[in-house]
Amino acid sequence: MTELGYYDFHVHIGEKIAGHDLKDDFKELRKLTEREPDPQNPPLLGIGAFVTEGPDESLTDTYNRMQEKAARDFGKAVQWHLTPTKATVEELYPLLAGGADLKLYTTYREAGIYSSYEKIAQWMKELSDLKTRILVHCEDDLIVQRISNWQSFSSPFDHTIRRPEIAEDKAVELVLNLAIKHQHPVHIVHVSSPAAALFIKEAKESFSGITCETAPHYLLYNEERLRQSNAHRYLCTPPYRKESSRGKLVELLQDGIFDILASDHCPFSDELKDRYKNDLPNLPQGLPGVETLFTSMYEALVKPGKITLEQLIDLTLMGPKELMKGALTA
Ligand SMILES: [Zn+2]
Repeated sequence: MTELGYYDFHVHIGEKIAGHDLKDDFKELRKLTEREPDPQNPPLLGIGAFVTEGPDESLTDTYNRMQEKAARDFGKAVQWHLTPTKATVEELYPLLAGGADLKLYTTYREAGIYSSYEKIAQWMKELSDLKTRILVHCEDDLIVQRISNWQSFSSPFDHTIRRPEIAEDKAVELVLNLAIKHQHPVHIVHVSSPAAALFIKEAKESFSGITCETAPHYLLYNEERLRQSNAHRYLCTPPYRKESSRGKLVELLQDGIFDILASDHCPFSDELKDRYKNDLPNLPQGLPGVETLFTSMYEALVKPGKITLEQLIDLTLMGPKELMKGALTA
């Protein structure tokens, strides 16, 4: 019998994002680990969490601070994903040798966390001995910038035009090419485009070091939500996709293309989001999800028979457990 519980490999917690506090912290996550064992609403067993290098502290110091906080307030396994902005391989080597991942972004130039494809290739070359897994947020920044030059961000739906599926497809394709060329492990986060998912399927055939995730919100909602009331509260990146894409993504999940489901938990209070309702480019984006990762998918996919309970357990327990091997034996 498999154990009862789930892992969420993609959780933003304990960090400020774009200068804003997240709605919750490690303490709130602990409550999810203490749930009564209920097969339809199992306890959280561990997470993947992010550490981003800020302007005022070294990545190593930030990591040490967050790791202490997680041990004290959460007390379960954490797989760390590190985003350097200035740190070198030499500086990060002890953390990476200890099993931490890198998390890189092909976009978000203004936030200072953008990596060019050349930079990603350089990390791969410099980490050719450790083969540190690189998580990549894939949206081609040039495409996003070009569209953003003529498409303003004055209504929530504009977000879908400014950050289209083709931007994700392009970045995924190029990052996969790098992974294959350098035989370097890559994990593509929050896949929201069916075409990108198919690129990944194909790339996996030539290199086994490629994994990927999608998030429940891309399987549950479509872009029409961004035309409805309080749509600004539902902004996330990549944005919700069109209904046909959402449907295809569910089919691809049924076909087993995704290694895991992960929430991309990144919650901000409604009060904070409402303050930026008329200033969308600066609105803190992101959705909660760690609490409902298993139950939302159980309700939406297992109950109506779209996937089996065994598939859901593979996607939320066995799959992430495999990706978190290092953190679980540490
Ligand atoms: Zn994220």
